[in-house]
Amino acid sequence: MSSTRHDGRQPDQLRPISFIPHVAPHAAGSVLVSFGNTRVICSATIDEDVPRWMKTQRVEGGWLTAEYSMLPYSTLQRKDRDISRGKLDGRSSEIQRLIGRALRAVTDLKKLGQRTVWIDCDVLQADGGTRTAAITGGCVALAIALNGLMAAGKLKSFPLTQLVSAISAGVVDGAPVLDLDYIEDKGAAVDFNVVMTEGGDFVEVQGSGEEAVFSGDQMSAMLALAQKGSAELVVLQRQAILAADKPSGDSLAALAAAFAR
Ligand code: UDP
Repeated sequence: MSSTRHDGRQPDQLRPISFIPHVAPHAAGSVLVSFGNTRVICSATIDEDVPRWMKTQRVEGGWLTAEYSMLPYSTLQRKDRDISRGKLDGRSSEIQRLIGRALRAVTDLKKLGQRTVWIDCDVLQADGGTRTAAITGGCVALAIALNGLMAAGKLKSFPLTQLVSAISAGVVDGAPVLDLDYIEDKGAAVDFNVVMTEGGDFVEVQGSGEEAVFSGDQMSAMLALAQKGSAELVVLQRQAILAADKPSGDSLAALAAAFAR
């Protein structure tokens, strides 16, 4: 089948995906995730404390939160750091809340104990789909960090209930396509970001027409593409987590059980 995509991919084809673990050795878990030319450093660090609101409201368990930023040299034109501009970019704020929601959806916070997990996602190179790469890599960094806690005997049971990943789909030149890069994203009439669990459930769907509308059939086609992409991503995430760690028997068993669902 010939392709009409500028990089020669089939409509339902992901960009080359890779995960390089342990890129930030001081973090409890880290990975450099690549979706084609989009590269994001994702790390998980663990604070042995919970936010004050949890203590005040006597909420059991722990918390997980995320931060996202684009490094100044991640874009073609230098992007000032938020600190230099004195305020957090609205887009970054929206993306980091999305990452936090996605990862909390698959984390049993009670099992974390009185801890806060910080997921930091720093974009090294932006070429479309930085939020989807951040969620997908953030989950790998989280799993590596939790495996470390299990191996250190700090957790009774594994808090990650299953893996979560995210992928974009859109309508480009009238055709639904998977995993848009920047060139496609710029020209897309419709852009969807879909967050899904490995069990095949949706966590969040962000979809909008860019000066365009979309039909129910197009939406179904984009969601079907995202489902296919997500099923492929989870296999790669699983390989990356197992290859990155020498997990304890318990965490391996828990991961295996989660994967078996
Ligand atoms: N982008 C950029 N500068 C910005 C914001 C975005 O160069 O300040 C580029 C970047 O390549 C990014 C793409 O536009 O990946 C699409 O941005 P969008 O806001 O749709 O988020 P993303 O697709 O990265 O999740």
